[in-house]
Amino acid sequence: MSLYERTRAVLPSWLAIYYEEPIELDRGDGRHVWDADGNRYLDFFGGILTTMTAHALPEVTKAVADQAGKIIHSSTLYLNRPMVELAEQIATVSGIPDAKVFLTPSGTEANDAALLLASSLRRSNQILALRNSYHGRSFSTIAITGNRSWSPTSLSPFQTYYVHGGQQYRSPFAGLSDGEYIAACVADLREVLDQSGGDVAAFIAEPIQGVGGFTSGPDGLLGAFASVLREKGILWISDEVQTGWGRTGEHFWGWQASGAVPDLVTFAKGIGNGLSMGGVIAPASIMDSLGANHISTFGGSPLTSAGALANLRYLLDNDLQANAAARGPALFDGLRALGSPVVGDVRGKGLMLGVELVRPGTGTPGDPAPEIATAVLEGCKRRGLLVGKGGLHGNVLRIAPPLTLTADEAAEGLAALLAAIEEATP
Ligand code: PLP
Repeated sequence: MSLYERTRAVLPSWLAIYYEEPIELDRGDGRHVWDADGNRYLDFFGGILTTMTAHALPEVTKAVADQAGKIIHSSTLYLNRPMVELAEQIATVSGIPDAKVFLTPSGTEANDAALLLASSLRRSNQILALRNSYHGRSFSTIAITGNRSWSPTSLSPFQTYYVHGGQQYRSPFAGLSDGEYIAACVADLREVLDQSGGDVAAFIAEPIQGVGGFTSGPDGLLGAFASVLREKGILWISDEVQTGWGRTGEHFWGWQASGAVPDLVTFAKGIGNGLSMGGVIAPASIMDSLGANHISTFGGSPLTSAGALANLRYLLDNDLQANAAARGPALFDGLRALGSPVVGDVRGKGLMLGVELVRPGTGTPGDPAPEIATAVLEGCKRRGLLVGKGGLHGNVLRIAPPLTLTADEAAEGLAALLAAIEEATP
């Protein structure tokens, strides 16, 4: 039996796997990965936005190996130096006043903890979220995920309301100026809140929707929302699982484009460079409000904390946010300049770029073309390039390479991507 057949036999059938002939990744180095047959690929998806700095970054490898040689796990019942040092570093760069940090093993659990904090503090299970959002795979996080293709149950521990504002290309407000778009979304928000009966605990949003296809409202939208939320006593949770740590180039956190400061921030993915690491940041007044014991067996484990700390230090010492800002525009402009009839929209910031593929001649917005996205992925693979896919219709290419991407690698990846798009154009 092939590894694919063994995978299908023993793992759940609903696990999505890329490519007609799926790839077994064997090793990585820098921005490249190799499959088990020795083929090399430039990784334009950064794992799944997890490889933030580089594959096999020596600093992270050494920190993990050193820590593994001392103690792998100790739990929060004991003092844990790597966890405290990581939390201190995260609090320092968080931009949140009087910040405290709770570490978790994933983004799902980070959002779970944020929902727990907000709903217990406000004594309400009503949550407001954006349409087309994705916040995780647990019972509570799928209950607030707007993209129903990721929500296999309609049972829910929350009463969730959804508002517009997560995307522009397929929005009913498309074509409006930024100011008008924001005003329309704020009016929608107010109407939904009026209908909710005034008992919403928190609003959760990704500044740029990740799984949703790297979509967002205009800068300033979440800031305009924040004024309404503050007026109504609703907490704002910024889900930075994909947008944090400088990926967008212009800011260290996605929320910083809003002009306002969220109450809680959740993170995961890139902080660990692939190690299982996530968490919640909140002011002490919110973080310490939980009136019960709470614990995570694996959150902030010494092993993952040591690796994440080395990763974060590398990211800061080498100002990788600036590199994301420097590399992103060439990719963005190259994709826009292609002028292909299958490219309906190119969007995003820094090294977080989405390309929405549509059926030619179907207007604006064009009909979603998931089959063209699949063909482009296959064409990129043949050219030694890995990119991601996403969006409500599975028709958006997601480009999110490690933030150490060089100018030559950006040009090489762009050329392969453009050739694959042209090849897949009917
Ligand atoms: N939030 C966002 C924005 C995500 O993109 C994801 C995962 O893709 C999650 C939360 C869940 O994170 P995890 O898969 O680490 O549980």
